[in-house]
Amino acid sequence: METKDWKAALLMEKKNGYDRMPASEREAMETYCQSYKAFMNAAKTERECVREGVRLAEEKGFRAYERGMELKAGDKVYLDNRGKMLLLAVIGRKSLAEGVQITAAHIDSPRLDLKPSPLYEESELAYLKTHYYGGIRKYQWVTIPLEIHGVVALKDGKTLHVVIGEGNEPKLVVTDLLPHLAKEQSKKTLDEGITGEQLNILVGSEPLEGEEKDRVKLAVMKRLYEKYGFTEADFISAELEVVPAAGAMDIGLDASLIGAYGHDDRVCGYAALKALLDLEEVPDKTAVCVLADKEEIGSVGVSGMQTAAFDTFLEDLCAGQGVPVRACMERSFCLSADVTAAYDPNFGDVFEKRNASFVNYGIGLCKYTGSRGKGGASDASAELVAYVRRIFDENGVIWQMAELGKVDAGGGGTVAAYMANRNIDTLDAGVPVLAMHAPFEVVAKLDCYMTYKGMAAVYRN
Ligand code: MN
Ligand code: MN
Repeated sequence: METKDWKAALLMEKKNGYDRMPASEREAMETYCQSYKAFMNAAKTERECVREGVRLAEEKGFRAYERGMELKAGDKVYLDNRGKMLLLAVIGRKSLAEGVQITAAHIDSPRLDLKPSPLYEESELAYLKTHYYGGIRKYQWVTIPLEIHGVVALKDGKTLHVVIGEGNEPKLVVTDLLPHLAKEQSKKTLDEGITGEQLNILVGSEPLEGEEKDRVKLAVMKRLYEKYGFTEADFISAELEVVPAAGAMDIGLDASLIGAYGHDDRVCGYAALKALLDLEEVPDKTAVCVLADKEEIGSVGVSGMQTAAFDTFLEDLCAGQGVPVRACMERSFCLSADVTAAYDPNFGDVFEKRNASFVNYGIGLCKYTGSRGKGGASDASAELVAYVRRIFDENGVIWQMAELGKVDAGGGGTVAAYMANRNIDTLDAGVPVLAMHAPFEVVAKLDCYMTYKGMAAVYRN
């Protein structure tokens, strides 16, 4: 054998996805990415993701699951957990005792939440106090147009759905200091230059007529009351999320990338959802898609991946077949679908290039996450990684290995550990993202599409 044959036989070659993807797939990729952008523009919060997910699922014949419902192979059901977490299943031909094929992604994203008592006036300007949610870099949230999406729950049991700044409505903003006066601020670290208590949203400046104190604040409250029907006290029982106003858009002269708020992790969540909705055949094993909340703050609470709502859903499905849920879980597989960090040449020194994931190289498989020596990681077994390599290769999924960054640079986690703790074999995989957790993150269309194909491969295998 010649050297070049040895090379081809023995060494691994990494290749740009555009050199590997058949030209015939370009159109499908573009169509998929159009639908993803539409989803992103309709869903900027976890609640909106669930609402939009339910709408799309019902269009495809999914029915709301009720305990005790008789289900047969091919039936499609969903469970809306408190409007913040969505569980969907397509019942397979085989018994649940053979396990289920799960994809689990999260639909919450870093943002600014309003505090329970947010509205105040200072120097005749009205503001809303916020408490940031998840790992944001505070300095990135100033001087960009913002909107507020969420709900206000009234004492009478009604829930108001609120979007402030929708469409052509006026937007909101957090101001920053002018450079002329920023001598001291500029000496601070990026972490300290803007503090959490400075992330106050500017919401108005025109006073109501009269002599009263706080007339600007009152004018803002009056507008909110007239438009939405709530008063200052109702902020106490509200969940109002401040999110970037910018929609999803193509990026690059070649339009090969997509910029948007909340790719982490809706880019995987949508792929997992869409692949299930598009599943035409009845799968062998039951296919389950989990869109969880609260990943960005530890997967806690009733709508996070640690919730018993997931176990209950699976247990209810199992009960219908007389299968103990623990027997189902031990034979199940979960692809924990969450984004990974794409190698960024602007910040090359935090990456380890031989193990980093690259834009346009496909969905990134992460054997383990964690930080400081795999701390907190769910380390998937070698056998499991081999299984996923095989099903991705068999299904034309362009994929790559991915490690978040240099060993000592930091780290992160996903929902993988919480699935693995349930005795479900779990592997992380997801779309490489540039500027992760920024108000405007960037992903490649090719990677989005390959993630969608990867999810479909999981459901079919
Ligand atoms: Mn994530
Ligand atoms: Mn995240």
